[in-house]
Amino acid sequence: MKNISVIGSGTMGNGIAHVFAQHGYQVSLIDLKQEFLEKALATITKNLDRQVAKEVLTEEQKTKALSNISTYTDVKEGVQKAELIIEAATENLAIKLDLFRQIDQASPKNAILATNTSSISITKIAAVTNRPAQVIGMHFMNPVPIMKLVEVIRGYATSDETTQQIMGLSEKLSKVPVEVNDYPGFVANRILMPMINEAIYSLYEGVAGVYEIDTVMKLGMAHPMGPLQLADFIGLDVCLSILKVLHDGFGNPKYAPCPLLVNMVEAGFKGVKSGEGFYTYTKGSKDLVVSPRFSN
Ligand code: NAD
Repeated sequence: MKNISVIGSGTMGNGIAHVFAQHGYQVSLIDLKQEFLEKALATITKNLDRQVAKEVLTEEQKTKALSNISTYTDVKEGVQKAELIIEAATENLAIKLDLFRQIDQASPKNAILATNTSSISITKIAAVTNRPAQVIGMHFMNPVPIMKLVEVIRGYATSDETTQQIMGLSEKLSKVPVEVNDYPGFVANRILMPMINEAIYSLYEGVAGVYEIDTVMKLGMAHPMGPLQLADFIGLDVCLSILKVLHDGFGNPKYAPCPLLVNMVEAGFKGVKSGEGFYTYTKGSKDLVVSPRFSN
């Protein structure tokens, strides 16, 4: 494989484009507006600069990586030459189904269609295409250039050949792929989200404060980040939508989102991206400050 298209140039899409371009692939990066693509290229440049400063890459390799990326605002044009398309657009079923219908029509018939979804059924997405055996989940972790894991999710109809190709490709990107089956939340979010939800319940029920909950998990369980800080980092809206997928998919009340999480999202407190969640985030500051709403 040489030509990869990435749809969506947000947090995940620009990271995925970065990693493929760094490894010598020709990347077509696609988004709705040119200004989103410009912002993504600026982020990729900043992150490549960081790798140069750490001597992971040379200045020459950085320039080469950037020259491997072209940008498109037209999905059909952007997927015309692709051997693999990775969809990393907004986590919304209707958007993804619409995109998969379009790329199934516009891309070469032998191309593999992958999605970076955190929780939406791969099987459901594959069913709107004429090539369900070539549809697969390729779930990168945030930040993509740093995190090693790729959760490779087989839909009900995904073929062995497609799975093997994506496992092999992930290794070529110096990632560690893990194969899992398509059930709500896959493995990563099925285990992570109930832990985050339980941490929010512990806060909601007054068991302990934000600092205390995160410190127990950081120092007691050797987690690099506490669950409340991690929820802020992922986005509280994203956490809520994944919990809803688990709750709906399994029909088990143990996955019911904590009412505090629902309230915070409805009020626009989404964590790092909105400037406040369990902590407050001031531009330029590296200090972790508990939101005044939760300080004693
Ligand atoms: P984001 O909001 O940062 O970026 C989404 C991008 O998709 C935006 O730039 C938006 O303009 C673009 N987009 C929306 N509709 C489009 C369309 N029809 N055509 C082209 N572009 C379109 O979101 P994100 O955090 O990068 O998440 C993207 C996907 O990755 C989601 O499925 C999410 O669940 C998954 N994911 C996110 C994380 C995370 O930590 N943020 C981790 C793993 C997986």
